[in-house]
Amino acid sequence: MRLVVYNDWRIGVQTDAGIHDISRLIAAPWGGTPYAMNWLVTHFDGIRRDVDRCAGEAAPVSLSAVRLRPPVPVPMQLLAAPANNAAHSKEMRGISGSPAGPLRTPREVGFFLKAPGSMIGPADAIELPPLPGRRFDHEAELALVIGREARAVSRERALEHVFGYTCLIDVTLRAGGGRDEERPMRKSYATFTPVGPALVTADEVPNPSELGVRLWVNGDLRQNARVAELIVGVPELIEIASHVLPLQPGDLYTTGSPSGVGPLAPGDTLVVELDRVGRMTLPVRQREW
Ligand code: MN
Repeated sequence: MRLVVYNDWRIGVQTDAGIHDISRLIAAPWGGTPYAMNWLVTHFDGIRRDVDRCAGEAAPVSLSAVRLRPPVPVPMQLLAAPANNAAHSKEMRGISGSPAGPLRTPREVGFFLKAPGSMIGPADAIELPPLPGRRFDHEAELALVIGREARAVSRERALEHVFGYTCLIDVTLRAGGGRDEERPMRKSYATFTPVGPALVTADEVPNPSELGVRLWVNGDLRQNARVAELIVGVPELIEIASHVLPLQPGDLYTTGSPSGVGPLAPGDTLVVELDRVGRMTLPVRQREW
């Protein structure tokens, strides 16, 4: 099932016909708020048949007639894996501000956090802040959404805690020009985390490793890889993080970018695509504030 959040925090099921509104299933006081999807994820197993029936009864609305939001607008945690692809780690050597040796993987350094407030919907604009001489990069990534609280979970059981998957671009300000801000800040400028277009439930993605991820800038294919190339895969990422703190229903964990990372400029158009999950098209602009 493909779940979307749209307009003023409505929840829909996306089919080939369009979006079917199921907002009336969301209990008060969460319905109509940015937290509606957290409630749905938490209660989904118990109301899945109601979701099917409600979606079947709702007339489809065209995708082009709505504004899609991030499919989980307010995760309690937005975790991210650093340097989780060998080819990407290699290409980062020599980029200004990167360490000279091989980058350490999530097995050594764990996760970092992006601010959830940096998220935007799958057709919103990425806005580059006025920082002359600095480089902004795209990182196309698979993100997972937690379904059941994960506390000290083994990698063997980790996928039982995954509700579904979505696509995420981890936009990044590189260190440089004598500046080396903390990683969470460089990756948390407003609009630096496009997410979507849908949250696809895990039953439609039996093996996330098989998914291909691709990203184009102005029509040029820049990133093209399989999730299987991750150094630390989805189950082990959950194992590591869930021993630090319990992961909550609706939490997002973005798994790290393949190689092909490169700079963005105002006027660019980004397209990112993840097998079985979908595609986002995002313009890049100069920030006006
Ligand atoms: Mn990343």
